[in-house]
Amino acid sequence: MAKRGILVVMSAPSGAGKRTLLEKLWETRPSLETTVSATTRAPRPAEVDGEDYHFLDRETFERRVAAGDFVEWAEVHGNLYGTLREELDRRLASGHDIILELDVQGMRNLKAQRDDVVTVFLTPPSLEELERRLRNRGTEDEAVIALRLRNARDEMAAQDEFDYVIVNDDLDRAAAEMENILRTERSRQTV
Ligand code: ADP
Ligand code: 5GP
Repeated sequence: MAKRGILVVMSAPSGAGKRTLLEKLWETRPSLETTVSATTRAPRPAEVDGEDYHFLDRETFERRVAAGDFVEWAEVHGNLYGTLREELDRRLASGHDIILELDVQGMRNLKAQRDDVVTVFLTPPSLEELERRLRNRGTEDEAVIALRLRNARDEMAAQDEFDYVIVNDDLDRAAAEMENILRTERSRQTV
């Protein structure tokens, strides 16, 4: 049988550490895949189009929704975000493990379409620490930070819907837990 990778959807409140965890995992596992989502959000100063996101204006995004180019999409913190079908298909064909960073709506949407999705919620140790991380990151203005913190409460309330919950206090431990999840799911797949 052809080797098949594990497809993980990881959700978390903004600032919990999804991107940091992915970068940590890449240090020891460069083959781990993710997709480059499309978004209508403005690029942050260090972000590169086509690497961090495909940055689209709303009209183009909506045209691509109508054309069926997205596997899933959602409005998150006032902007549109979506997974392009061609991005996901290319990664699935690689046979490597894939971690998608989606919001809770995206998780629900993808889970409804596929029975091979493993869902992981990454939670900050506390809402106070989440606020500290968002502020220290320094990529959003106060109004956007406030909106993301308000939305964090609803996102945290959805964590029971996920297969696994990882608390991101110590980054090394969180990365080890994600590796364990991938190992467990892989052994399940072959029995
Ligand atoms: P997300 O992708 O979930 O929005 P980021 O990965 O950008 O979050 O992390 C938000 C901020 O928190 C960053 O400044 C990052 O350096 C910091 N951070 C992430 N994980 C940890 C951790 N385990 N301990 C302390 N700070 C962390
Ligand atoms: P950010 O603006 O901080 O990069 O991302 C904000 C939120 O959008 C995060 O919770 C992230 O998981 C979510 N997100 C990013 N890409 C996608 C996507 O393709 N689909 C969905 N549904 N959510 C996404």
